[in-house]
Amino acid sequence: MHIPESVYRSEAFPDPATPVFVAEIACIMCATVVGTAIDERWPPVLTVLIELDGSRVLRRVELDRLRCPQCGGNTEATEVTPRLLRRDHVDWRLERPQVGRPPKWLAALRAAGRPYDRTA
Ligand SMILES: [Zn+2]
Repeated sequence: MHIPESVYRSEAFPDPATPVFVAEIACIMCATVVGTAIDERWPPVLTVLIELDGSRVLRRVELDRLRCPQCGGNTEATEVTPRLLRRDHVDWRLERPQVGRPPKWLAALRAAGRPYDRTA
């Protein structure tokens, strides 16, 4: 299973390398492919991130609402593949400072022993 492109655009897995499971989700009634799910553990619990077939965005869906759009049937993972999700490029939207953590440039200043001067 390939990792959907939308996974790289989402903020769900910000780490440079995240072991994930990629699964094709299909209807157990009519075999329609519902989408490609991705999660850090498999089987997922309560919700799962999925790129629905024909969609280009990753959504978090409650498992019991993950139904076949054709017949409303229940779904199952037909193929589950462990993958290593790598972010080779730096996505600056994901590089925003985390709450409670100083920005990298400030941490570097502090590490260098130079106090940050707010009036500078
Ligand atoms: Zn179906």
